Amino acid sequence: MATAVTSDGWTALTRPLERALGKRTANALAKLDLHTVGDLIYHFPFRLAHRGELMPIAAVREGEPVTVIARVIGTNLRPMNARRGYILQVRITDGTYDLALTFFGKSSRPLQYHERRLQVGTVATFSGTISSYRGQLQLTHPEYELVDDEPDLARLERPIPIYHAAERVPSWQVEKAIATILPSITPADLPDPLPPDYRQQHGLPARYDAVRTLHMPDDDASWKQASLRMAHEEAFVLQANLARRAVAAKDRATAAFSPHTGGILEAFDARLPYRLTAGQRAVGEEIAAELATTTPMQRLLQGDVGSGKTVVALRAMLQVVDGGGQAALLAPTEVLAWQHLRTIEDLLGPLGLAGQLGGAETATRVEILTGSLTTRQRRQALARIASGEAGLIVGTHALLSEDVQIPFLGLAVVDEQHRFGVDQRDRLAGGVHTLVMTATPIPRTIAMSVFGDLDVSTLRELPAGRKSVATTVVPATNERWMARVWERAREEVDGGGRVYIVCPRIDGEENPDEDLASVLDVAEELRARRILNGIAIGVMHGRLSTEEKTVAMAEFAGGNTPILVSTTVIEVGVDVPEATLMVILDADRFGLSQLHQLRGRIGRGGKEGTCLAVSRAIAGTLAAERLAVFASTTDGFELAERDLQLRSEGDVLGTSQSGRASHLRFLSVVRDVELIAQARDAARTLVASDPELSEHAELAAAVAELDEGRADYLEKG
Ligand code: ADP
Ligand code: MG
Repeated sequence: MATAVTSDGWTALTRPLERALGKRTANALAKLDLHTVGDLIYHFPFRLAHRGELMPIAAVREGEPVTVIARVIGTNLRPMNARRGYILQVRITDGTYDLALTFFGKSSRPLQYHERRLQVGTVATFSGTISSYRGQLQLTHPEYELVDDEPDLARLERPIPIYHAAERVPSWQVEKAIATILPSITPADLPDPLPPDYRQQHGLPARYDAVRTLHMPDDDASWKQASLRMAHEEAFVLQANLARRAVAAKDRATAAFSPHTGGILEAFDARLPYRLTAGQRAVGEEIAAELATTTPMQRLLQGDVGSGKTVVALRAMLQVVDGGGQAALLAPTEVLAWQHLRTIEDLLGPLGLAGQLGGAETATRVEILTGSLTTRQRRQALARIASGEAGLIVGTHALLSEDVQIPFLGLAVVDEQHRFGVDQRDRLAGGVHTLVMTATPIPRTIAMSVFGDLDVSTLRELPAGRKSVATTVVPATNERWMARVWERAREEVDGGGRVYIVCPRIDGEENPDEDLASVLDVAEELRARRILNGIAIGVMHGRLSTEEKTVAMAEFAGGNTPILVSTTVIEVGVDVPEATLMVILDADRFGLSQLHQLRGRIGRGGKEGTCLAVSRAIAGTLAAERLAVFASTTDGFELAERDLQLRSEGDVLGTSQSGRASHLRFLSVVRDVELIAQARDAARTLVASDPELSEHAELAAAVAELDEGRADYLEKG
C-alpha cells in the first residue's frame, strides 16, 4: 500500500510539525523531541485521568514535570516583603495531599486574573516542574486548564489522556496538537503490519483505529484494548524479524563436520578425567548432529555457573577439527581467555601439541589471540591461524579485528554472550556454525524476545562433586558478626581453603562521596588484622596488567596468597576448586545475577561453600529484599525470574543485550509471557510459509524498519 505523498513532497507522517501546526507549536513540541507528524502521532499518552476524579499529588518529586488534576482550596495575593512586586499563592488538593502554587508579578494585575480563575472549589489540570521552597514542594507559574472550560459536552464524558510533558509544554497542549492533526491522518498513512487473521483471532483493532483510540479513548476498556493491540504488534514484528534472521542464517550453507572414528575427539574422550553428565552428553549429541549438516547451527547453550559448558564446547570444537576445520572460542575478558587456554591445554595434553615435542598423532594446535600479545607474538599467532595449522583458537575481542583470517573457520563459540552484542557475534560467526554460551540464566520471555533466533539447550544438572553453597546476609554494622566473618576466613585458610573477598571498588578515588569497600583499602586493613596474621593477602582488579592478573590468579590458586581481595573481575568463569568461602562487601551494590555469578566461583571442589553477603542495606528496602532473595536460593533460573520481578524491565532490555528491544513501548517482557509466545508461534508459521514476506508488505516494511533501527543502535553503541 503506497502512502500518499502530499503536494509539498512530504508523506503524511514525515511532514514537519512546523508545516502542519505552525512555528510556535512546533517549537514547543520540539522540546519533547517531536519534530514530524509521525513523531507526534506516536507520542502516546502514558495513562488516563478522569474528570471528577482527582489525580494523586503524593507521587510528585522535586525536579519532575508533573500533570495533576486538583481542586483549589485557598488563594492569597499580597505584595512581597523584601522586594517590589506581588505574589499569588494558591493551595490545591487531591483530597489527601496539598500542593502549593506560586505566581509572581511586577504588578498585581496579571495575578488578579489568575486569582479570579482559580477560585476556591475550582478543579483544574495543573502542569509544571516541581521545585522545593523551604522544604515544601511547589509549582511555580504552572500552566493550568480549568476542567469545566471544556465546551464539548461529549468530551467531558471521556477520559483525559495524560502525555509526558515538558516545561511550558503541558500535557493538554500535546493533546490539542494531536487533536488538530488526527483528522488529516487516514488508514493508508498507518499501514497495519499485523495479519488480519491474527488480529481477528485475538480480537484486536486495526492499527489506525488503535492509534486514534489511544489518543481519544471513549472509555478505559477500549484504551486497554488499543494498548494490547500495540503490544501484539511489537511482539509480532520482533518475532517475525527474528524468525527471518533464523531462516536467512539457515539458508546460507556452511561446511558440515560429521563425527569421525579414530580422530581427535575420540582420543580426547578417552583421556577425559571425568564422566560427562547426562545433560552434557545429551546436549553434546544435539550439537554433534547439527555440526554434521550444512545448515549453520544457531544454538544458545545455557547452564548455570559450574554446569560444565566448557567441555561441551570443546568437544564440539574438536569435532570440527576432526573434519579439517578450525574452531574459535570468543571470551569476554583476558582473564577468561587465558583460563580457557589453560583448561583446553590441560584437557588436551599431547592432543594439543601438533608438530611439537610429545605431540600425539591426531594432535592439533591451540592458539590464543588477545590484546596483550606482543607484536611478534601476535604476528606468529596470526600466521599459524591463517595457515590453518591452529585448529583451536581462543581469544578476546582481538579475534574480531580485521586482520584476523581464520580460513577454515567452521564453528564459533561465544562464551558469556551477555557481554557481547548480537553484532559482534555476527562479525565472527556470520554464516558458520555458532554456539553461544551463557551462565546467566535467561528467563523464557527474554530468551524468546532477544534470542528468539537461536535454538536453546540447557544444562540443568551440575557435575557430580559440585557442592552446595550456603549464603548468609551479614549486617555490616554488627561488629560481632563482622569479627566472626574474618574468623571464618582464618578457619578456611587453616583448613586448606581459599577465600575470595569481593569489593565494589578498586580504591577510594572512583567516587569519593560514596563510602564503599575498596580492594586496596580492604586488603590493607585485613593485612593489619590480628586474626589473619601470617596469611598472605593478594589483590586482583581491572587496573592490573594481564601479566599481573595472571600472576595474582596463579598465586591464589596455588595457595601462596590464599586470600584474594578482588573486584568483580573474577565474576565470570574463573575456576579455583579450593575456594570455599566468599565474602562480598557492600553486597547490595551488585545486581542479583552478578551476585549469583560471583557465588558460582566457590564450592567447585569437593567441599561445601559459604557465601557471606555483607551489607548496610536497611531492612525493608529493595536492596535488602534482593539480598534476601539471593540468600534464599542457589537456583539461577529462579533467581533470574525473581530478579525480573524486582527490576523494571527497562533495565533488562535497555542494555547491551539487544538494541532491537529498545523499540518495545507497549510490550512488557515481564508481564506478557503468553502474548510473546503466541506472537512467536504465529510469526514463525507465517515466515515459514512466506519467507520473503512478499504476501505481507506491511509486515515486511515494519520488519525492515526494525533492522534499520538496530543498525542505528549499533552505530551509536
Ligand atoms: P561453566 O559452565 O560455568 O563454564 P565449567 O565448564 O567451567 O563451567 O566447569 C566447571 C567445573 O566443572 C570445571 O572445573 C570442570 O572441569 C568441571 N566439570 C565439567 N564437567 C564435569 C563432569 N562431567 N564431571 C566432573 N566435573 C566436571
Ligand atoms: Mg564458563
